[in-house]
Amino acid sequence: MPKANKKAASARGNKKETVKIGIIGGSGLYHMDGLTDTREVRVKTPFGDPSDAIVIGTLEGQRVAFLARHGRGHLYSPTDINYRANICAMKMLGVERILSVSAVGSLRDDLPPMDFLIADQFFDRTRLRVSSFFVGEKGIVAHVGFDKPTCTHLSAHIADACDQAGVKAHRGGTYVCMEGPQFSTVAESNTYRQLRFDVIGMTNLTEAKLAREAELCYATISMITDYDCWHPQHDSVTVTEIIENLSRNAANVQRVLHGVVRALPAERSCKCGAALAHAILTDRKLIPAAAKKRLAPIIGKYIS
Ligand SMILES: [Zn+2]
Repeated sequence: MPKANKKAASARGNKKETVKIGIIGGSGLYHMDGLTDTREVRVKTPFGDPSDAIVIGTLEGQRVAFLARHGRGHLYSPTDINYRANICAMKMLGVERILSVSAVGSLRDDLPPMDFLIADQFFDRTRLRVSSFFVGEKGIVAHVGFDKPTCTHLSAHIADACDQAGVKAHRGGTYVCMEGPQFSTVAESNTYRQLRFDVIGMTNLTEAKLAREAELCYATISMITDYDCWHPQHDSVTVTEIIENLSRNAANVQRVLHGVVRALPAERSCKCGAALAHAILTDRKLIPAAAKKRLAPIIGKYIS
């Protein structure tokens, strides 16, 4: 490493560096291409350890924090991911916006593999995970608004970047988030279609809920890998084809992410950063010290 870079890296190592953009990669996206001046940080959160070390690097002139949702090497199934630690770690690094990337199945004929969908609604079919910072925490209650579960500003930037990268993207749609790890039965898949859901995955809703509580913008790129089992072609699709789709989608999403980061304005103009402003119902004087301490990264500015 040249002397100047070494100096810069060590300055960053000594001083707490603020990174405002986070990227969470799912199946097929375990690293970010084109990151320079990288370093890895293992963030300890009050909720435990994130899925992996977070890689901080420069992308398109901006410092970004990349986390592999399932861990590099794909170690954690959707139920076992420590979502709270993942989102809290991003918050602790100073992240304000999270770009999430996931592989999904399509529930509609006109959403073929290789298209992207920028979901703006979710439907919850999870059962076994903790999806709030405010549960299991005696003495503090908070209810954040979640009618619009993703950041519309950030989603628009993603859709624009898809257009510029020549990737077909559908703006808006409902992502049904199932528990997994097994895929759906045909009866379930057909039911989701009757309910007019668009894509199915196993992780994004949980992240979106926690990101809202942490006052982070959250927007997600659903990369369609295959049709879910309702489709007549489902049985004839081979694992090789699915893996090919995954890697082609991953190459496309790298270009999209570069475009988003390049175009993002420095400051946010949405309301995500104030999601907790009227959400904490508990009398501040009665919030136990233990809860204050554990939740400090999330609610610090409202209780100090
Ligand atoms: Zn926002």
